[in-house]
Amino acid sequence: MKQNLFVYNTLTRKKEKFEPLNPPFVGMYVCGPTVYSDVHMGNCRTYISFDLIFRYLLKLGFKVRYVRNVTDAGHLEGDGGDEGEDKISKKAKISRLEPMEIVQKYTVGFHDVMQIFNLLSPSIEPTATGHIIEQIELVQDILDKGYAYVVNGSVYFDVEKYNQTQEYGILNGRNLEDMLNNTRALGGQHEKRGKLDFALWIKAKPEHLMKWPSPWSVGFPGWHLECSAMSNKYLGSQFDIHGGGIDLMPTHHTNEIAQNVAACGKNPATFWIHTNMLTVNGQKMSKSLGNSFLPHELFTGEHSILTKAYSPMTARFFMLQAHYRSTLDFSNDAMEASEKGFKRLMNAFGLVDGLKASAATEIEIQPLLDKCYDAMNDDFNSPVLIAELFEASRIVNSVHDGKLKIDETNLALLKELMNTFILDVLGLKNEQAANDDLPKILNLIVTLRNEAKANHDYATSDKIRNGLQKIGFQLNDGKEGTNWSKI
Ligand code: AMP
Ligand code: ZN
Repeated sequence: MKQNLFVYNTLTRKKEKFEPLNPPFVGMYVCGPTVYSDVHMGNCRTYISFDLIFRYLLKLGFKVRYVRNVTDAGHLEGDGGDEGEDKISKKAKISRLEPMEIVQKYTVGFHDVMQIFNLLSPSIEPTATGHIIEQIELVQDILDKGYAYVVNGSVYFDVEKYNQTQEYGILNGRNLEDMLNNTRALGGQHEKRGKLDFALWIKAKPEHLMKWPSPWSVGFPGWHLECSAMSNKYLGSQFDIHGGGIDLMPTHHTNEIAQNVAACGKNPATFWIHTNMLTVNGQKMSKSLGNSFLPHELFTGEHSILTKAYSPMTARFFMLQAHYRSTLDFSNDAMEASEKGFKRLMNAFGLVDGLKASAATEIEIQPLLDKCYDAMNDDFNSPVLIAELFEASRIVNSVHDGKLKIDETNLALLKELMNTFILDVLGLKNEQAANDDLPKILNLIVTLRNEAKANHDYATSDKIRNGLQKIGFQLNDGKEGTNWSKI
């Protein structure tokens, strides 16, 4: 099966046979969140897509080192990530907290959400602030190779110089002239030689909160640099897969490649995988457009776009019903259809263990099992896989109703098929049985209420307390914090 995996590679714009550099090992790097605010459902789609990819690679027997970073410094507000204020510092100032308190709060929140959606943890989650030395070394390396210049304590990558010998737009298939003509000039260009040049190291203004000494100034690393330094450290100068949302491709990933090629002479990854966006009424879900909503808003139904609450696994199933390279538009109708589909699938899954084998069989399961692998081998095609799983569900229901006979061997295969693809590969789980998750979800709600209280938002904190009371949970505020109990 392993030999048949084909993956779409953004670099070549076609599906290619997946052959790791050092089988059975696979190195995969995915750009993680900037921890200055809660992740919205769009961000979650990207991480769920890579969780599917990670899970399937594991299922095929690869030994995967999956590195997903946490951006806790250096991501500035502008489109390119190196203009304006640092997102985390800005939030820290507004909230009158230490930047590291912001980082801690949203990193914990991110992990809670990932757990609720049943994502496997990556093998390493390196932070930008934990790798300042590696980043300084990489900047020095790029300077030594002649692809960067220093102005007033900041270091910039020289895109035009690089493009003389390399192809800067290799990832999006555009030439430099086209990119130069179609990029709007950003602020703070006065120090850069070229319009597309980007910061590797930025000299900190006096009021800037997160800064470190370097050979050039007291400052901080650029956002693109962080991923190059950490992927290189944990996966080497060349590894198998680099991924992220498609919105990161034109600038962040293009610049990452330029940095790695400048320093090591190699494109860091053989496969570049880009996942597509969750949209709302056809528009990318994004915090800045104001059309985003958060996982907990989805679970409580408390957002103007939502007609009701949806469970975490309904949302996961909804996302997996689209191929990772297609856009997916959020709508209540589509969510309700997914809710029904998910229930139908899990009902059949609940029946499979209790099915009785007959002496003879009227159905062969192997062809269906092959089709499940074929679907996933075709660039992780989860919607086709789900269609095959509905076929498996129909078989389960027919056997259960006594309308179809199945023998021991085929029944074992049917069980294997359902377990492998529903639980291991799609990462779905039966929510009725997931009582262990209830305390985690309640603790998350209590944290959100405490935050509302701390912000003097008593309307929200009372709403949470009263809402929980209505569904049978009492909150008790004490000296040690808030506890919950069942009424
Ligand atoms: P950020 O924290 O803004 O760097 O984004 C974290 C990840 O979420 C990146 O990989 C983005 O590509 C991804 N992302 C942002 N918005 C969306 C969206 N609407 N749908 C899917 N992924 C998204
Ligand atoms: Zn990155």
